[in-house]
Amino acid sequence: MYPARFEYFAPTSVDEALEILGRYDEGDAKVLAGGMSLIPVMKLRFAAPQALVDINRIGGLDTLAEDKGTLRIGALVRHKTCERSELLSGKYGVLGDAAPLISDPIVRNLGTVAGSLAHADPQGDWGSAMLAVRAEVVARSADGERSIPIDDFLLGPFATSLRPTEIITEVRVPDPGRAAGTYLKLERKVGDFATVGVAVHVTMANGTVDQAGIGLTAVGPTNLRAEAAEHALADRPLDDDAIDEAARLAADEAQPYDDARGTAEYKRNTVRVFTARALRKVAEAIA
Ligand SMILES: Cc1cc2nc3c(=O)[nH]c(=O)nc-3n(C[C@H](O)[C@H](O)[C@H](O)COP(=O)(O)OP(=O)(O)OC[C@H]3O[C@@H](n4cnc5c(N)ncnc54)[C@H](O)[C@@H]3O)c2cc1C
Repeated sequence: MYPARFEYFAPTSVDEALEILGRYDEGDAKVLAGGMSLIPVMKLRFAAPQALVDINRIGGLDTLAEDKGTLRIGALVRHKTCERSELLSGKYGVLGDAAPLISDPIVRNLGTVAGSLAHADPQGDWGSAMLAVRAEVVARSADGERSIPIDDFLLGPFATSLRPTEIITEVRVPDPGRAAGTYLKLERKVGDFATVGVAVHVTMANGTVDQAGIGLTAVGPTNLRAEAAEHALADRPLDDDAIDEAARLAADEAQPYDDARGTAEYKRNTVRVFTARALRKVAEAIA
């Protein structure tokens, strides 16, 4: 099916893009980044915006760099760029491990991290990775800029706290210091959305866990933070006892459902196994 008719704009600055968004009633104009989610949704006529504001010609939004203790991921940073970035290893390993597991090379060539977060698919991989690293989403509107903690950003299936008149300009990740992380994803075949995904990011201090981040994919109405599991790890060595307890708690916190990819019970058990496996990998990396 073809999308419904829409006007197309290709602004060259964020200010111009915001001005165009402001001309339309709330939700009638949509930002177009990689188009990997928006275009299919429009072709299925689940969305019929009056206007698309294509941000791909805006300079300066493709920065992927560390800057004064913060990792900055610009709104036009593609999955592919993350997959190939040497920066996204070690302390940012959960991000580097997630990138190549997203769909296939065609989607990764165009799709953006920010677009993925704005789309807020509970089966999206970036949401969990960003929960694990406690990222902030930076949004600009005609009224100025605000920084939204990822926990306050992801509200539900395909729902975020982003306003229709706002544009994400970048995602910021605080430098965690001595840290390691990974992302594990169970998929029916290469390129599929997750049956289950688990993002783990651990910061260590003096031989014990300073802060743990655990995000779960495809086992709830949105990407979920496994908060009890994170707390169970705090101030403890990352040993077998701590890992097994955290894995059990993460499985308890998951909210899986039966679907074509598996039963709720199967997915809950996968969360347990993947959380333990990811934490063991992190423990080895950080030893
Ligand atoms: C076949 C297929 C398989 C896929 N498999 C996976 C997978 O395994 N894992 C996974 O995580 N994802 C997967 N995806 C989704 C993919 O990652 C998309 O690229 C991503 O969800 C959206 O990014 P985008 O840049 O294409 O955004 P777009 O499609 O351009 O936009 C998506 C939404 O975000 C909004 N938006 C985009 N950028 C901004 C911004 N800067 N500010 C405000 N709003 C913005 C748009 O208005 C729209 O509502 C898949 C997609 C396809 C087509």
